[in-house]
Amino acid sequence: MSTPKPSIPLVDLRAQYATIQTEIDGALARVLQSGRFIGGPEVAAFEREWAAYCGAEYCVGVSSGTAALELTLRALGVGLGDEVIVPALTFTATAEAVCSVDALPVFVDVEPRSLTLDLNLARRYVSQFTAAIIPVHLYGQPVDTAALSDLTTRGVRIVQDAAQAHGTATPYGGFRTPLAGPACFSFYPGKNLGAYGDAGAVVTDDESLAKRIRRLADHGRTEKYEHLEVGQSARLDAMQAAVLRAKLPHLNGWTVRRREIAEHYSALLEPCRQLLLPPYSRGRVWHQYVVRHPQRDALASYLAERGIETGIHYPTPLHLQPAYSYLGGQVGRCPVAERACQEILSLPLYPEMTSEQVELVADAVKEFCRD
Ligand SMILES: *Cc1c(COP(=O)(O)O)cnc(C)c1O
Repeated sequence: MSTPKPSIPLVDLRAQYATIQTEIDGALARVLQSGRFIGGPEVAAFEREWAAYCGAEYCVGVSSGTAALELTLRALGVGLGDEVIVPALTFTATAEAVCSVDALPVFVDVEPRSLTLDLNLARRYVSQFTAAIIPVHLYGQPVDTAALSDLTTRGVRIVQDAAQAHGTATPYGGFRTPLAGPACFSFYPGKNLGAYGDAGAVVTDDESLAKRIRRLADHGRTEKYEHLEVGQSARLDAMQAAVLRAKLPHLNGWTVRRREIAEHYSALLEPCRQLLLPPYSRGRVWHQYVVRHPQRDALASYLAERGIETGIHYPTPLHLQPAYSYLGGQVGRCPVAERACQEILSLPLYPEMTSEQVELVADAVKEFCRD
C-alpha cells in the first residue's frame, strides 16, 4: 500500500517559492545573463550580506554545511591524533567533518531538556588530545558557547555547528562576544535559510582563518595556477548565492512566523499530559518543533494516516551508528540521547503553514493522546 501524499508536509518549499517567485526568477536570470557561475559579484555580495546579518567580520561561502565544518577544522589545524568533542544527538555531518580531517570524534551526551550538548559533561571529556568542541545549535536552539570560553585559553577551539540556527541569539546572531568560535552554516534547501541546491558558509571575526578557509575551498590557490597547499573544490556557486540573496530579506519575517507557530502549538498541546513539549530559550529560531511521547512510533503512524507528515531528528544517536562503530560506542554511553531518540517527533513547521493547519495537527495529536 502506498502512503497517500501528505496534506500537511513537514516542510513545503513549493509554497515558499510561490511567495517569492518573481524575486527568485529575476535573481537566477541575472546570473544566467552574467555568465559568471563560480565566484564573482553575486557570491561576494552574499558573503557581505550574510556576515552583516550574523554580526561577523568575515563570511566565506562554501559548497555545503558539511564542507563549512570540514574546512574550518582543517584551517584551524585539527587533524591526525586530535580529538573533537561532538554531541551524540546531531546530524551525521557534525562527526563526518571530524573524520574527514583524520581526527577522532568523541561523542558526548546531551542535556535532558534542551537535547543540546551537555557542556558540563563535555568539559569532563576534555583531554590533552582535545583540539576542538563542536556545539550544535540543534533545532534552532542556541547553545551558550560563551560558557566554554575558558577552555579556549587551554587551546581548545570552539566551532559552532549553526546549520539549524540562522539568526539565533548566538554570538553570531545577536550578542557578540570576542571569544565566539567560527560558526558553520548550511543552506540545504530545508534549512531556515535554504538555497535551491547545496550551499554553506563560515562566519568568523578572524581574518586569517577566513582567508585560509577561502584558500582551502578553492584548491589551495593563491593565484590562478599557484597552489600554496592541497585544498579542495568546495566553493559557493553564483546561482545559489543569488537565491540566498533573494531570500535573505525575508528571513526575519519567516523566523517571526516560526516563533508564532511554535507558540501556537505549545498553547494548543499544553493539556496533553503524556506529551513533553520543547523548551523555550532566548533567540530560538525553531528549525524544528520537537515533542516527546513514550509511544512515538504509534503517534507518528496515527498522524501519517491523517495526512500529517512528521520527522525524527534523529532516530539513532551517532555513537550507535554503524559508520562510527570503529570508535567502540556502546549502548549506555549516552543514555539521555539514546532515550530521546526513542521518543522525539518533529511536527510540521514552516513559515507558510496556516493557523488552521497548525490547529489540524494539534487536534490530531490531542486525539491520539486521549485514546
Ligand atoms: C544540515 C546539517 C549539516 C550539514 O549541512 P549540509 O549543507 O547538508 O552539508 C550539519 N550539521 C547539522 C546539525 C545539520 O542539520
